[in-house]
Order: sequence, then structure tokens, then C-alpha cells
Amino acid sequence: MARYIGAVCRLCRRENLKMFLKGDRCYSDKCAFDRRSYSPGQHGQRRGRKFSDYGVQLREKQKTKRLYGLSEKQFRLFFERAERQKNITGTNLLVMLERRLDNVVYRLGFVASRTQGRHFVRHNHFKINGKKINIPSYLIKVGDILELNETSRNIKAISDSLDAVARRGVPQWLELEKDNFKGRIKSFPVREDITMPIQEQLIVELYSK
Ligand code: SF4
Repeated sequence: MARYIGAVCRLCRRENLKMFLKGDRCYSDKCAFDRRSYSPGQHGQRRGRKFSDYGVQLREKQKTKRLYGLSEKQFRLFFERAERQKNITGTNLLVMLERRLDNVVYRLGFVASRTQGRHFVRHNHFKINGKKINIPSYLIKVGDILELNETSRNIKAISDSLDAVARRGVPQWLELEKDNFKGRIKSFPVREDITMPIQEQLIVELYSK
């Protein structure tokens, strides 16, 4: 599956949003968005740039896709699944994105970013309900117990991330047992739990054209 391998900080600057894609660096004074909060490229500092309706919808989709680190194809598949569910498509989409295993390990604080979460999930560092799962797009369920393998507990990147968990906080739909390297899914997230500024209705409008 194709994946973005360019400069990650450019994405934050392009979407005009601090997306916290790089772990510790995002909280330091090296954050490129804090230092240059204008679009990248030759015309990035041009003022008064106007987008068409299509442009606004496109940027919202790109921003959300990049925030969760998905390719266009992966994102589109998630959207189609969200469309087939009951209730509001946009909310369904965001809730499903949050339920992805790579996002959950990030939200619980085991890793510093979703990209790192994907990496550690793929390398079999986590178990769910006692079973090894190495699929980043796996959707967690209520009551699932996520556990870091015993052999992975001395990995520095993971212990550093757990040490910094207080800075980010753990969302109320998850529960972290830091000393036991475990997390529990208390409930599914609701729309209010997703605090990043996303206007999901614009994504629905874009894909409905
Ligand atoms: Fe975005 Fe983090 Fe880079 Fe800052 S350091 S621009 S928040 S990825």
C-alpha cells in the first residue's frame, strides 16, 4: 500500500493545523508549524487565498486522511463502510477511524504518533484479549483488553511515550493501566471525544458528488 514518505511537517503547514504527527518534536520549539505557520512552497505566504466549495471540501478530506495517516484508497474504503452503517455517515467515519488499532495504541499513550503505532502493531508488539494482532486497521470493540507483549516492555520508545502520557491525556472512552502495560476499551468514542477540528460533513459532500 502506497504511503506518504515526504516531509511530515509540510502536511501540518499545508492543512494549517498542528496535527501532532511527529511525537515529542511536536511539543518542542522545533515544531515547524509553530515556527512557520503558513503553507509550504513558493507562494505559501500569499495572503487572502480563496478556495472554491470543492477546494474547501477537498482540504477537509486531505486533512482528516493525513491526520490518521491513511492513503486515499484506505480512506475511501473506510468512508464506504461508514456509509453502509446506520446513523450519520460523517460521525460513523470518525468513530471508525478512532477505533483503528494504530490509533488506539496512540491514544492510550503507548506510542508517540499514529505512524509509530502502525509500526509497532505491524511488528507484533500488542495483543488483544490475549491474541497477537498485527493489523493496524483492526477495529477494536467495547470490552477489548489491549496488552503490550512482555518482551516489548523494555523498548525505550514505548517507555518514553508512556512517561509522557500525562501531557496528552487518555480519552474517557479508554482506560490505561500503565503499570501493567494494559489498556481497556470502555466504550466507543462519541463525536464529542474527537477534539481535532474536523468538519466531517464536508467530506461527505465531497464524496457524494
Ligand atoms: Fe506538525 Fe509535529 Fe511537525 Fe509540528 S512537529 S509541524 S505538529 S508534525
